[in-house]
Amino acid sequence: MANILTYLDYNATAPLREEARAAAVSALGITGNPSSVHRFGRAARRLVEYAREQVAGLVGAVPSQVVFTSGGTEANNLALRGSDRRAILVSAVEHDSVLQEAPEAIRIPVDSEGIVDPGVLDSLLGETKTPALVSVMLANNETGVIQPVEEICRIAHHHGALFHCDAVQGAGKLAIDFAGLGADMMTLSAHKIGGLKGAGALIVADPIDLAALNVGGGQERGRRGGTENVAGIAGFGAAAQAAGRLDEIERIAGHCERLEREALARIPSARIFGAGAPRLANTVNIGIPGRSAETQIMSLDLTGIAVSAGAACSSGKVAPSHVLRAMGVGEDWAACAIRVSLGRETSNADIARFLDAWAALASPRMSAA
Ligand code: PLP
Repeated sequence: MANILTYLDYNATAPLREEARAAAVSALGITGNPSSVHRFGRAARRLVEYAREQVAGLVGAVPSQVVFTSGGTEANNLALRGSDRRAILVSAVEHDSVLQEAPEAIRIPVDSEGIVDPGVLDSLLGETKTPALVSVMLANNETGVIQPVEEICRIAHHHGALFHCDAVQGAGKLAIDFAGLGADMMTLSAHKIGGLKGAGALIVADPIDLAALNVGGGQERGRRGGTENVAGIAGFGAAAQAAGRLDEIERIAGHCERLEREALARIPSARIFGAGAPRLANTVNIGIPGRSAETQIMSLDLTGIAVSAGAACSSGKVAPSHVLRAMGVGEDWAACAIRVSLGRETSNADIARFLDAWAALASPRMSAA
Protein backbone atom coordinates (compact mmCIF):
# COMPACT_ATOMS: atom_id res chain seq x y z
CA MET A 1 0.00 0.00 0.00
CA ALA A 2 1.32 3.40 -0.91
CA ASN A 3 2.45 5.56 1.92
CA ILE A 4 3.19 8.69 -0.10
CA LEU A 5 -0.04 10.49 -0.77
CA THR A 6 -0.79 12.90 -3.58
CA TYR A 7 -3.92 15.01 -3.22
CA LEU A 8 -5.14 16.38 -6.55
CA ASP A 9 -8.77 17.07 -5.69
CA TYR A 10 -8.69 20.72 -4.62
CA ASN A 11 -11.94 21.54 -6.42
CA ALA A 12 -13.71 19.07 -4.11
CA THR A 13 -12.11 20.65 -1.06
CA ALA A 14 -8.79 22.30 -0.28
CA PRO A 15 -6.56 21.45 2.69
CA LEU A 16 -7.14 23.66 5.70
CA ARG A 17 -4.88 26.71 5.75
CA GLU A 18 -2.87 27.25 8.92
CA GLU A 19 -4.31 30.77 9.24
CA ALA A 20 -7.84 29.35 9.10
CA ARG A 21 -7.09 26.63 11.62
CA ALA A 22 -5.60 29.16 14.05
CA ALA A 23 -8.55 31.55 13.70
CA ALA A 24 -11.10 28.75 14.13
CA VAL A 25 -9.34 27.21 17.13
CA SER A 26 -9.10 30.58 18.79
CA ALA A 27 -12.80 31.20 18.12
CA LEU A 28 -13.69 27.88 19.75
CA GLY A 29 -12.43 29.40 22.99
CA ILE A 30 -15.07 32.15 22.85
CA THR A 31 -18.22 31.22 24.73
CA GLY A 32 -20.59 34.01 23.76
CA ASN A 33 -23.45 34.01 21.29
CA PRO A 34 -22.82 36.83 18.79
CA SER A 35 -26.39 38.07 19.40
CA SER A 36 -25.90 38.49 23.15
CA VAL A 37 -25.28 42.03 24.30
CA HIS A 38 -22.92 41.19 27.18
CA ARG A 39 -19.15 41.07 26.84
CA PHE A 40 -19.07 37.37 25.96
CA GLY A 41 -21.49 37.96 23.12
CA ARG A 42 -19.65 41.05 21.99
CA ALA A 43 -16.38 39.08 21.78
CA ALA A 44 -18.02 36.53 19.47
CA ARG A 45 -19.64 39.33 17.45
CA ARG A 46 -16.25 40.98 16.93
CA LEU A 47 -14.91 37.77 15.38
CA VAL A 48 -17.88 37.48 13.04
CA GLU A 49 -17.64 41.12 11.96
CA TYR A 50 -13.89 40.91 11.43
CA ALA A 51 -14.40 37.84 9.23
CA ARG A 52 -17.12 39.71 7.35
CA GLU A 53 -14.56 42.38 6.46
CA GLN A 54 -12.05 39.75 5.36
CA VAL A 55 -14.56 37.93 3.16
CA ALA A 56 -15.80 41.19 1.64
CA GLY A 57 -12.16 42.05 0.92
CA LEU A 58 -11.66 38.85 -1.06
CA VAL A 59 -14.24 39.90 -3.64
CA GLY A 60 -14.24 43.70 -3.51
CA ALA A 61 -17.58 43.90 -1.69
CA VAL A 62 -18.49 45.90 1.42
CA PRO A 63 -18.93 43.99 4.68
CA SER A 64 -22.65 44.75 5.01
CA GLN A 65 -23.23 42.87 1.76
CA VAL A 66 -21.92 39.58 3.19
CA VAL A 67 -24.56 37.09 4.40
CA PHE A 68 -22.91 34.13 6.10
CA THR A 69 -24.41 30.72 5.28
CA SER A 70 -23.57 27.07 5.86
CA GLY A 71 -21.72 26.91 2.54
CA GLY A 72 -21.97 27.35 -1.20
CA THR A 73 -24.99 25.09 -1.54
CA GLU A 74 -27.10 27.10 0.88
CA ALA A 75 -25.93 30.39 -0.65
CA ASN A 76 -26.99 29.20 -4.12
CA ASN A 77 -30.32 27.98 -2.76
CA LEU A 78 -30.85 31.33 -1.01
CA ALA A 79 -30.02 33.36 -4.12
CA LEU A 80 -32.49 31.50 -6.29
CA ARG A 81 -35.29 30.79 -3.83
CA GLY A 82 -34.99 34.00 -1.84
CA SER A 83 -35.22 36.37 -4.78
CA ASP A 84 -38.69 37.48 -5.89
CA ARG A 85 -37.92 36.69 -9.55
CA ARG A 86 -40.01 33.82 -10.85
CA ALA A 87 -38.39 33.52 -14.28
CA ILE A 88 -35.00 31.94 -13.69
CA LEU A 89 -32.33 31.28 -16.32
CA VAL A 90 -29.34 29.13 -15.42
CA SER A 91 -26.49 27.82 -17.52
CA ALA A 92 -26.59 24.11 -18.30
CA VAL A 93 -23.23 23.61 -16.55
CA GLU A 94 -24.13 25.03 -13.13
CA HIS A 95 -23.49 23.12 -9.92
CA ASP A 96 -26.34 20.87 -8.75
CA SER A 97 -27.13 23.29 -5.93
CA VAL A 98 -28.33 25.68 -8.63
CA LEU A 99 -29.82 23.15 -11.06
CA GLN A 100 -31.77 21.24 -8.43
CA GLU A 101 -32.92 24.42 -6.69
CA ALA A 102 -34.57 25.58 -9.93
CA PRO A 103 -35.62 22.49 -11.86
CA GLU A 104 -38.06 24.54 -13.94
CA ALA A 105 -35.42 27.12 -14.87
CA ILE A 106 -34.67 27.88 -18.49
CA ARG A 107 -31.33 26.26 -19.29
CA ILE A 108 -28.88 28.47 -21.17
CA PRO A 109 -26.89 26.19 -23.48
CA VAL A 110 -23.09 26.20 -23.66
CA ASP A 111 -20.83 25.63 -26.66
CA SER A 112 -18.47 22.69 -27.10
CA GLU A 113 -15.89 24.39 -24.84
CA GLY A 114 -18.45 24.87 -22.08
CA ILE A 115 -18.99 28.61 -22.54
CA VAL A 116 -22.36 30.33 -22.39
CA ASP A 117 -23.10 32.22 -25.60
CA PRO A 118 -24.10 35.76 -24.52
CA GLY A 119 -26.13 36.15 -27.76
CA VAL A 120 -28.29 33.17 -26.83
CA LEU A 121 -28.85 34.60 -23.35
CA ASP A 122 -29.84 37.90 -24.95
CA SER A 123 -32.49 36.17 -27.10
CA LEU A 124 -33.78 34.06 -24.22
CA LEU A 125 -34.19 37.12 -22.03
CA GLY A 126 -35.87 38.94 -24.92
CA GLU A 127 -38.53 36.20 -24.95
CA THR A 128 -38.98 36.18 -21.17
CA LYS A 129 -42.06 38.12 -20.17
CA THR A 130 -41.62 38.33 -16.38
CA PRO A 131 -38.69 39.95 -14.52
CA ALA A 132 -35.94 37.37 -14.45
CA LEU A 133 -32.93 36.17 -12.50
CA VAL A 134 -29.89 34.90 -14.41
CA SER A 135 -27.49 32.55 -12.61
CA VAL A 136 -24.17 31.77 -14.28
CA MET A 137 -21.07 30.56 -12.48
CA LEU A 138 -17.69 32.29 -12.65
CA ALA A 139 -15.74 29.09 -13.25
CA ASN A 140 -16.83 25.51 -13.62
CA ASN A 141 -15.97 23.00 -10.91
CA GLU A 142 -15.43 20.11 -13.34
CA THR A 143 -13.60 21.74 -16.26
CA GLY A 144 -12.36 25.03 -14.80
CA VAL A 145 -13.87 26.86 -17.78
CA ILE A 146 -14.34 30.55 -17.01
CA GLN A 147 -17.54 32.24 -18.15
CA PRO A 148 -17.69 35.75 -19.66
CA VAL A 149 -19.53 37.00 -16.59
CA GLU A 150 -19.03 40.72 -17.29
CA GLU A 151 -20.89 40.42 -20.56
CA ILE A 152 -23.51 38.11 -19.08
CA CYS A 153 -24.13 40.58 -16.25
CA ARG A 154 -24.44 43.47 -18.71
CA ILE A 155 -26.99 41.58 -20.82
CA ALA A 156 -28.98 40.51 -17.75
CA HIS A 157 -29.20 44.10 -16.55
CA HIS A 158 -30.06 45.37 -20.02
CA HIS A 159 -33.19 43.19 -19.79
CA GLY A 160 -33.95 44.27 -16.22
CA ALA A 161 -32.88 40.86 -14.87
CA LEU A 162 -30.89 40.23 -11.71
CA PHE A 163 -27.53 38.51 -12.04
CA HIS A 164 -26.30 35.89 -9.58
CA CYS A 165 -22.81 34.43 -9.95
CA ASP A 166 -21.63 31.26 -8.24
CA ALA A 167 -17.98 32.18 -7.64
CA VAL A 168 -17.19 29.17 -5.43
CA GLN A 169 -14.49 27.82 -7.74
CA GLY A 170 -13.18 31.17 -8.96
CA ALA A 171 -12.47 32.59 -5.50
CA GLY A 172 -8.83 32.43 -4.55
CA LYS A 173 -7.90 31.51 -8.13
CA LEU A 174 -9.01 34.66 -9.96
CA ALA A 175 -9.16 38.32 -8.91
CA ILE A 176 -12.82 39.09 -8.22
CA ASP A 177 -14.41 42.52 -8.08
CA PHE A 178 -18.06 42.24 -7.02
CA ALA A 179 -18.62 45.99 -7.21
CA GLY A 180 -16.84 46.35 -10.56
CA LEU A 181 -18.71 43.39 -12.03
CA GLY A 182 -22.01 44.88 -10.89
CA ALA A 183 -23.49 41.47 -10.00
CA ASP A 184 -26.50 41.42 -7.71
CA MET A 185 -25.51 38.29 -5.79
CA MET A 186 -22.43 36.11 -5.54
CA THR A 187 -21.82 32.76 -3.84
CA LEU A 188 -18.66 31.78 -1.95
CA SER A 189 -17.64 28.68 0.00
CA ALA A 190 -15.00 28.56 2.74
CA HIS A 191 -13.67 25.04 2.25
CA LYS A 192 -12.71 25.60 -1.38
CA ILE A 193 -10.23 28.29 -0.34
CA GLY A 194 -8.67 26.59 2.67
CA GLY A 195 -11.32 27.37 5.27
CA LEU A 196 -13.53 24.94 7.15
CA LYS A 197 -16.30 22.89 5.62
CA GLY A 198 -19.76 24.16 6.52
CA ALA A 199 -19.28 27.91 6.05
CA GLY A 200 -19.94 30.11 3.07
CA ALA A 201 -21.53 33.37 2.05
CA LEU A 202 -23.93 35.00 -0.31
CA ILE A 203 -22.81 38.50 -1.23
CA VAL A 204 -25.90 40.60 -1.84
CA ALA A 205 -25.85 44.04 -3.49
CA ASP A 206 -27.63 46.65 -1.40
CA PRO A 207 -30.90 47.19 -3.27
CA ILE A 208 -31.78 43.48 -3.57
CA ASP A 209 -34.83 42.11 -1.77
CA LEU A 210 -34.13 38.65 -0.49
CA ALA A 211 -36.42 36.44 1.61
CA ALA A 212 -34.62 34.29 4.19
CA LEU A 213 -34.75 30.51 3.89
CA ASN A 214 -33.92 30.09 7.59
CA VAL A 215 -36.21 32.24 9.68
CA GLY A 216 -36.21 33.08 13.35
CA GLY A 217 -33.57 35.00 15.23
CA GLY A 218 -33.13 37.70 12.61
CA GLN A 219 -29.40 37.10 12.23
CA GLU A 220 -27.52 38.33 9.16
CA ARG A 221 -29.88 41.34 8.93
CA GLY A 222 -32.84 39.01 8.70
CA ARG A 223 -31.45 37.20 5.67
CA ARG A 224 -30.30 34.04 7.42
CA GLY A 225 -31.70 33.17 10.82
CA GLY A 226 -29.75 30.95 13.21
CA THR A 227 -26.82 31.41 15.57
CA GLU A 228 -23.71 31.93 13.50
CA ASN A 229 -21.06 29.21 13.11
CA VAL A 230 -18.49 31.47 14.76
CA ALA A 231 -15.47 29.18 14.40
CA GLY A 232 -16.30 28.33 10.79
CA ILE A 233 -16.82 31.99 9.98
CA ALA A 234 -13.58 33.05 11.70
CA GLY A 235 -11.72 30.39 9.70
CA PHE A 236 -13.45 31.53 6.53
CA GLY A 237 -12.31 35.10 7.13
CA ALA A 238 -8.69 34.07 7.66
CA ALA A 239 -8.76 31.80 4.60
CA ALA A 240 -10.29 34.58 2.50
CA GLN A 241 -7.56 37.00 3.48
CA ALA A 242 -4.82 34.49 2.62
CA ALA A 243 -6.46 33.25 -0.59
CA GLY A 244 -7.02 36.80 -1.82
CA ARG A 245 -3.29 37.32 -2.18
CA LEU A 246 -3.32 34.89 -5.14
CA ASP A 247 0.38 34.35 -4.55
CA GLU A 248 0.35 30.62 -5.33
CA ILE A 249 -1.44 30.82 -8.65
CA GLU A 250 1.55 31.21 -10.96
CA ARG A 251 3.30 28.19 -9.51
CA ILE A 252 0.10 26.12 -9.69
CA ALA A 253 -0.40 27.20 -13.31
CA GLY A 254 3.10 25.98 -14.12
CA HIS A 255 2.33 22.54 -12.65
CA CYS A 256 -0.94 22.39 -14.53
CA GLU A 257 0.67 23.27 -17.86
CA ARG A 258 3.27 20.58 -17.32
CA LEU A 259 0.61 18.03 -16.43
CA GLU A 260 -1.37 18.73 -19.60
CA ARG A 261 1.67 18.82 -21.87
CA GLU A 262 3.17 15.59 -20.58
CA ALA A 263 -0.15 13.78 -20.31
CA LEU A 264 -0.86 14.40 -23.99
CA ALA A 265 2.72 13.51 -24.93
CA ARG A 266 2.38 10.16 -23.14
CA ILE A 267 -1.14 9.36 -24.30
CA PRO A 268 -1.83 11.28 -27.51
CA SER A 269 -5.33 9.81 -27.75
CA ALA A 270 -6.28 11.44 -24.42
CA ARG A 271 -8.56 14.45 -24.58
CA ILE A 272 -8.70 17.56 -22.41
CA PHE A 273 -12.19 18.99 -22.09
CA GLY A 274 -12.62 22.75 -22.34
CA ALA A 275 -9.04 23.04 -23.64
CA GLY A 276 -9.97 25.81 -26.07
CA ALA A 277 -11.57 28.03 -23.42
CA PRO A 278 -10.12 30.32 -20.76
CA ARG A 279 -9.77 28.06 -17.72
CA LEU A 280 -8.76 28.15 -14.08
CA ALA A 281 -5.03 27.66 -13.63
CA ASN A 282 -5.55 24.59 -11.43
CA THR A 283 -8.07 22.35 -13.22
CA VAL A 284 -7.62 19.67 -15.87
CA ASN A 285 -10.50 17.49 -17.05
CA ILE A 286 -8.98 14.69 -19.06
CA GLY A 287 -10.21 11.44 -20.57
CA ILE A 288 -8.49 8.27 -21.74
CA PRO A 289 -10.58 6.46 -24.33
CA GLY A 290 -12.00 3.17 -23.12
CA ARG A 291 -10.97 3.56 -19.46
CA SER A 292 -13.90 4.34 -17.22
CA ALA A 293 -13.50 7.19 -14.77
CA GLU A 294 -14.38 4.82 -11.96
CA THR A 295 -11.55 2.42 -12.88
CA GLN A 296 -9.08 5.28 -13.16
CA ILE A 297 -10.05 6.80 -9.84
CA MET A 298 -9.90 3.49 -8.00
CA SER A 299 -6.57 2.51 -9.57
CA LEU A 300 -5.07 5.90 -8.79
CA ASP A 301 -6.42 5.70 -5.25
CA LEU A 302 -4.63 2.38 -4.78
CA THR A 303 -1.37 4.15 -5.59
CA GLY A 304 -2.17 6.95 -3.14
CA ILE A 305 -3.33 9.54 -5.67
CA ALA A 306 -6.66 11.32 -5.15
CA VAL A 307 -8.55 12.74 -8.12
CA SER A 308 -12.25 12.71 -8.93
CA ALA A 309 -14.76 12.28 -11.70
CA GLY A 310 -16.57 15.51 -12.35
CA ALA A 311 -18.53 16.81 -9.39
CA ALA A 312 -17.46 14.89 -6.31
CA CYS A 313 -19.34 16.97 -3.80
CA SER A 314 -22.57 15.00 -4.14
CA SER A 315 -22.10 11.55 -2.62
CA GLY A 316 -19.04 9.86 -3.99
CA LYS A 317 -21.12 8.77 -6.96
CA VAL A 318 -19.47 8.37 -10.36
CA ALA A 319 -22.19 9.28 -12.84
CA PRO A 320 -21.73 10.73 -16.34
CA SER A 321 -21.15 14.44 -15.99
CA HIS A 322 -23.98 16.82 -16.93
CA VAL A 323 -21.30 19.40 -17.66
CA LEU A 324 -19.57 17.31 -20.33
CA ARG A 325 -22.93 16.23 -21.75
CA ALA A 326 -23.98 19.90 -22.03
CA MET A 327 -20.75 20.50 -24.00
CA GLY A 328 -21.84 17.84 -26.47
CA VAL A 329 -19.27 15.30 -25.29
CA GLY A 330 -20.46 11.78 -26.15
CA GLU A 331 -21.43 9.38 -23.39
CA ASP A 332 -18.41 7.15 -24.10
CA TRP A 333 -15.94 9.99 -23.59
CA ALA A 334 -17.87 11.52 -20.68
CA ALA A 335 -17.66 8.17 -18.87
CA CYS A 336 -13.85 8.23 -19.20
CA ALA A 337 -13.13 11.74 -17.92
CA ILE A 338 -11.45 12.49 -14.63
CA ARG A 339 -10.88 15.83 -12.96
CA VAL A 340 -7.43 16.63 -11.65
CA SER A 341 -7.38 19.79 -9.56
CA LEU A 342 -4.20 21.24 -8.11
CA GLY A 343 -3.54 23.61 -5.27
CA ARG A 344 -1.06 25.35 -3.08
CA GLU A 345 0.55 22.19 -1.68
CA THR A 346 0.94 20.49 -5.08
CA SER A 347 4.59 19.76 -5.90
CA ASN A 348 6.52 18.72 -8.98
CA ALA A 349 6.80 15.25 -7.43
CA ASP A 350 2.99 15.03 -7.23
CA ILE A 351 2.71 15.79 -10.94
CA ALA A 352 5.36 13.19 -11.81
CA ARG A 353 3.64 10.54 -9.66
CA PHE A 354 0.29 11.29 -11.21
CA LEU A 355 1.65 11.14 -14.77
CA ASP A 356 3.35 7.79 -14.20
CA ALA A 357 0.35 6.19 -12.55
CA TRP A 358 -2.16 7.65 -15.00
CA ALA A 359 -0.19 6.78 -18.14
CA ALA A 360 0.14 3.20 -16.88
CA LEU A 361 -3.67 2.97 -16.94
CA ALA A 362 -3.63 3.19 -20.71
CA SER A 363 -0.73 0.80 -21.21
CA PRO A 364 -1.26 -2.19 -23.54
CA ARG A 365 -1.10 -4.53 -20.53
CA MET A 366 -4.05 -2.70 -18.96
CA SER A 367 -5.91 -2.54 -22.26
CA ALA A 368 -5.69 -6.29 -22.67
CA ALA A 369 -7.01 -6.87 -19.17
N1 PLP B 1 -20.86 25.71 -6.37
C1 PLP B 1 -19.79 25.12 -6.95
C2 PLP B 1 -19.34 25.62 -8.29
C3 PLP B 1 -19.13 24.08 -6.31
O1 PLP B 1 -18.08 23.50 -6.90
C4 PLP B 1 -19.61 23.63 -5.06
C5 PLP B 1 -18.97 22.47 -4.39
O2 PLP B 1 -18.30 21.69 -5.01
C6 PLP B 1 -20.70 24.29 -4.49
C7 PLP B 1 -21.31 25.32 -5.17
C8 PLP B 1 -21.24 23.88 -3.14
O3 PLP B 1 -20.43 24.39 -2.10
P1 PLP B 1 -20.47 23.72 -0.65
O4 PLP B 1 -19.67 22.47 -0.71
O5 PLP B 1 -19.85 24.77 0.24
O6 PLP B 1 -21.91 23.50 -0.30
